[in-house]
Amino acid sequence: MWQMRDIPFQRFDQLYEGPEFADARFAELVPWGRDQTFTGLAHGTPKGEHTPHGWGVLEHHEGFMQACAVWRDGVADGPGMWSSIVEGKEQCGYGAWVQGKRHGYFALVKEGGVYVEDYDMGELKRRIKWRKDKLHLQCARCRMLFVPCANSPEEKLCRFHLSKN
Ligand SMILES: [Zn+2]
Repeated sequence: MWQMRDIPFQRFDQLYEGPEFADARFAELVPWGRDQTFTGLAHGTPKGEHTPHGWGVLEHHEGFMQACAVWRDGVADGPGMWSSIVEGKEQCGYGAWVQGKRHGYFALVKEGGVYVEDYDMGELKRRIKWRKDKLHLQCARCRMLFVPCANSPEEKLCRFHLSKN
């Protein structure tokens, strides 16, 4: 799956220059939802001063993150990935969200395997073991599963790791 080898968004993609995101501004570690922070493009809405709108990464204090290429008024609505670093349950996944729900094929990576999941507006329809995972390394510091080529200096999704050490 191509998404594993690439970062989930390019900050300066033309998409974000368009009229839809014209009023969105970069916000860093702003509160968004309970025990969560958001870093990315945001604008003010009735939901909050910094409502995710454009590319961005949502992080939960307990070790869950979701990076999405397109947030619309706080709702994930485009391709992206998520990762959990909860000890013993480290896993990550790649796919696309539609109106905040997983939709279509997701690749779930856990326990050394890659599983293909098929969703219909948030509902899991099936899960198939696809193959052994040979792409991901685990960050020695935060335990996040990551693919080195998708962890550029511009976009370090775990915020800490530069290499597996
Ligand atoms: Zn890390």
